[in-house]
Formats: sequence, structure tokens, C-alpha cells
Amino acid sequence: MIVMRQDATAEHVAGVIAAIEARGLSAHAIPGAQRTAIGITGNEGPLETAVFEALPGVLEAIRVSHPYKLVSREVKPDESIVTIGDVAIGGRKLVVIGGPCAVESREQTLTVARGIKSAGGHILRGGAFKPRTSPYSFQGLGEEGLKILAEAREETGLPIVTEAVDMESLDLVERYADAIQIGARNMQNFSLLKRAGKAKKPVLLKRGMSATLEEFLMSAEYIVSQGNYQVILCERGVRTFSDYSRNTLDLTVVPAVKQISHLPILVDPSHGTGKRDKVPALSRAAVAVGADGVIIEVHHDPDRALSDGPQSIRPDAFAQLVVELRRVADAVGRIL
Ligand code: PEP
Ligand code: MN
Repeated sequence: MIVMRQDATAEHVAGVIAAIEARGLSAHAIPGAQRTAIGITGNEGPLETAVFEALPGVLEAIRVSHPYKLVSREVKPDESIVTIGDVAIGGRKLVVIGGPCAVESREQTLTVARGIKSAGGHILRGGAFKPRTSPYSFQGLGEEGLKILAEAREETGLPIVTEAVDMESLDLVERYADAIQIGARNMQNFSLLKRAGKAKKPVLLKRGMSATLEEFLMSAEYIVSQGNYQVILCERGVRTFSDYSRNTLDLTVVPAVKQISHLPILVDPSHGTGKRDKVPALSRAAVAVGADGVIIEVHHDPDRALSDGPQSIRPDAFAQLVVELRRVADAVGRIL
């Protein structure tokens, strides 16, 4: 990583980038509040620091010790703010995302979207492509589902986030949605991560169900290293021996991420617990522990939902939850 002097000019930065690229490496300029840093990737071994330190405007060249580079606080000390539609994620303001697990029909999605909007939710979620454990389960409406989501955005003004499960669906999701979700099951689908890194839309990256923090951040690094710096992490629970919930929501990862990465992190208490009645408590805990927001599954008729009904809360419970989260936000110095 090259740290530029505070008084370095745009020409100095361009000169350093040219010197990096002349060596066949990639340069990633990261403007900060105090000074610009330039990350270097593509080198297979350590680089000689002196050649870069000799360039005009350079303060120092540092070897980044972590395996994740561009997503680390070492390279970028200031927190990143990622924007989905017109909603900023990662600042003082918390974000609340809500919506059904799957887009099932126009009526279902519009009904839930109206509930999210009137409750004060900021972004609508809903899967058009569903990665289901069983091939016999509802697989999603595909492009038809994306059209329904676009209509819901049109009516409510809520930006939409929806999952891409492979290369083909990623092309479609990039076209229709405001953010691309990469699900837990695809967290280490490296070709999909690289493709997401070329996308022009922000990426919501969910933690794999057995991923360590380092693996999680390395997956984010895949996306960022391809040039897409708009990555939001999402903790959604990991597999443990606990048998009273679908997954174990690892809230400890939130302050851990905050310490070593500048990326925003959300919490998904729906998949994290698998149980509707546990969702409000874990949502409040997520905000208390420093998450930048929550993503919640909501369904107006969860007992008839085609996927994840048992963990989906009703729109009125979602509205009540937003009120409760506002109070927790206030207590921890955040705004909702
Ligand atoms: C989802 O958001 O509906 C989903 C499938 O999530 P995850 O990838 O975390 O299981
Ligand atoms: Mn789901």
C-alpha cells in the first residue's frame, strides 16, 4: 500500500498509479479524509518499497500484513458508505431492509412492499432466484420475479435487493435491481464473486454458514479486487451444535468486522434464528452490538409462504420492530 502525503496532488497520484500499472500490477486509489492511499494487487510476492517511496507525493510504502488488503482498515481507515438506490449504508443512520424470502406473486410482493414502506423500512428484499436445499422446493419466479420487484419499487420508491445464484441470474439481477445479493451458499463461488466485482451495482455479501471471518473477508476481497468497492457484508448465522435455532447468529463478528474492515455490516436475524418469535430480540441485539442495519423476512401470510414462512414476521410486527429499533439506535448513538 502506498500512502500519499497530505499535500500530494492529483498528478502525484496519477504518477504512482502509472508506475504500478507499468509493472503489470493493479492500482486501487482509496481517497480518505486525511490522505489518499493506493492499494496494489496482482503481485505474487513482496514488492520493493523503495522504488515507490522515491516517487513524488509519496509518504511511505507499507506491506499489508493481512491476507485481505483492500477491505482492511489498514489500507482504508475511514468507514465506507455504500449506497443502494438513494439509501446510504454505513454512516450514523441505520438501514432496515424488509421483504419476503421469495417473490411468490405480484399481489404478495406488493402487499408486503407496502407494509415495509409504511413501517418506515428503507429497502425491499425478495428472492426471484432461490437457492433451495431441495430441488423439489419452490425455485423462484426468475425474471418474472424481477419484474414484480421493479413494479414494487416503482410504486413504493423503495430500492430493491435480490439474490443472484449464478452467472445468468447475475446479469439479470444487475439489470433490474439496485443491489445484488450473493447468498451464504455462494459465498465461496469465486467465479460468481469475480463477476460481481465487475458489476456496476452494490453487492450484499452474506456469510457462508461455515465461513470464518477471514474467509468472509477474503470473499469480499474477491469482489473489491475486481473494481467494485460497493460491498456490504451480512451476518446470517453459522452452523453449530445448537439445536434450538436454525443457525447460530454470530453477533460477535460485528465488532470484529468493524475493527479490521471498513466495510458496512448488516445482520439477518431471520436466517440467523429460523424462528419468527426470536427475530425482534436478535434484531435489537444486532443494533446494540453495532451493526449498520438489519435485513428481515416479512410475509403477510407466513403460514402459506412458499419459502421460509416459519422465520417470516408479519408486516405489523415489522412496524413494531422498527419502533423498537429506533429506541435502541438512540441508545447507541445511531439514527433510525
Ligand atoms: C435469503 O436471503 O433468502 C437467503 C437464501 O439467505 P442465505 O443465503 O443467508 O441463506
Ligand atoms: Mn430466506
